[in-house]
Amino acid sequence: MTSSTPKIYAYSIGAAQYSITVLPALGRTLVAACICFALMSCSDTQQTPKTIIDNVNIVDPVDGLVVQQQVVIEEGNIVFIGPAQEVQASSQDQVLDAAGQFLIPGLWDMHVHFLYDEALTDIMPELFLRYGVTSVRDTGGDVARLAALRTQLENTQAPRIYFSGPLLDGKFVVYDGSDPSRPPLGTGVADADSAMATVSALKTAGADFIKIYELIDPTTYNSLADAAKQLGMPIASHVPLMMTADVAGPIAGSMEHLRNIELACAENWQALLTQRQAKITGFTEGLGYDLRSGLHSAQRIPAIKAYDQERCNTVLDTLTSTIQVPTLRLNTVTMVKPFERADWPSAAADLPATVLDNWQARISLLNKNSLSIDNTFAEWSQFLIGRLLERKVPIGAGTDTPIGLGIPGYSLHTELALLVDSGMTTQQALYSATVTPAKFLGLEKSMGQIKVGMAADLVLLSDNPLENIQHSRSITKVMSKGLWVE
Ligand SMILES: [Zn+2]
Repeated sequence: MTSSTPKIYAYSIGAAQYSITVLPALGRTLVAACICFALMSCSDTQQTPKTIIDNVNIVDPVDGLVVQQQVVIEEGNIVFIGPAQEVQASSQDQVLDAAGQFLIPGLWDMHVHFLYDEALTDIMPELFLRYGVTSVRDTGGDVARLAALRTQLENTQAPRIYFSGPLLDGKFVVYDGSDPSRPPLGTGVADADSAMATVSALKTAGADFIKIYELIDPTTYNSLADAAKQLGMPIASHVPLMMTADVAGPIAGSMEHLRNIELACAENWQALLTQRQAKITGFTEGLGYDLRSGLHSAQRIPAIKAYDQERCNTVLDTLTSTIQVPTLRLNTVTMVKPFERADWPSAAADLPATVLDNWQARISLLNKNSLSIDNTFAEWSQFLIGRLLERKVPIGAGTDTPIGLGIPGYSLHTELALLVDSGMTTQQALYSATVTPAKFLGLEKSMGQIKVGMAADLVLLSDNPLENIQHSRSITKVMSKGLWVE
């Protein structure tokens, strides 16, 4: 600093007010930090240890690159951002010289399932953090178990977990647990009248949002949505098969997998929908899973082949306030095989042997059938990203890990790369894994960016992710809730 007057940086987080005072004296900068809570005087000069990341290049998803900065963290929050070496550390502070490195906000995976494979549940938190994923949205699983998992992780280093509880399904339930290879992630909602009781019980059990699934009927869908809105819970949803994306979508905060948009975008969408509704109404016996899969395999490819751009624009224009979570990684798994990446073996080595054994069968199948695999939906999914971008439909990064060979944490970086490959800029991709998920939960004022007052969930990279999104993998250090991850 060249000025001789003290510089005071003031900020507030919640009810607490903070200030950092930079006092130039004898050519050196002395720093006095004081924390004063609301209604208390600022006379107490006792210092709280700070973590200082110095000389770092900040990559903010909104503001882009700002070089040579200093970021100061105190009690889990970012309390100061300014030119490098502005604030001088006291003896109790922890300082990291990050010269030449790049700091991004902690990443989110907007679509994970902790309870899909029990052999993975316990190691998932650690894997997420290792790959810079500091927050996740669990989009389907038993609510009591998810609440217990979050409580169990409360005082450990773990990502922030936001969960919905079970997939809210209809009379038939896709994930009803009847087949041992498919866990009981879903539950049936009897009718529209039980919607409020269902949502309210989930809220009481700790759910942060609700997740509506594919076999729900339209009346119950609307009642669940009304209940969630009354209780202030965001809604994530698949497109219910009795509805179209432009009818169900605008009611939800997020839609998953891009699935069923193909039907809404087809020139013969009305005929396909009528066919589909008749199948569902006439289905009186059997498994929800088979009903759902049967409809997808009968209608998905024909719908894509009947794509009508004008019709699709009308559909997408209804979705400008609904985040699409494409899970491109999952949708393209037959085409962009994760196990062909050079870094796959070392990442897979962290998984339990039983998981790897199960996955090996899937890998062999994909290799064996690679010539006969139909990649129409994979290609359509990537194509649709361009259309979403053009129609200004928000996009969020999610992976559906561990489903479909999704290594927790690792697979989020594949998702980012696929989003860029499908037309996003690198900065838009980072935004989709930071600001967009925070917005879904109404947390964008406190999470998702590198700003004073925001949570100190941060990822340090050796290479610039704006130059090449593959650099999101060049992680050197991860900070979760203000602490460096060991
Ligand atoms: Zn899922």
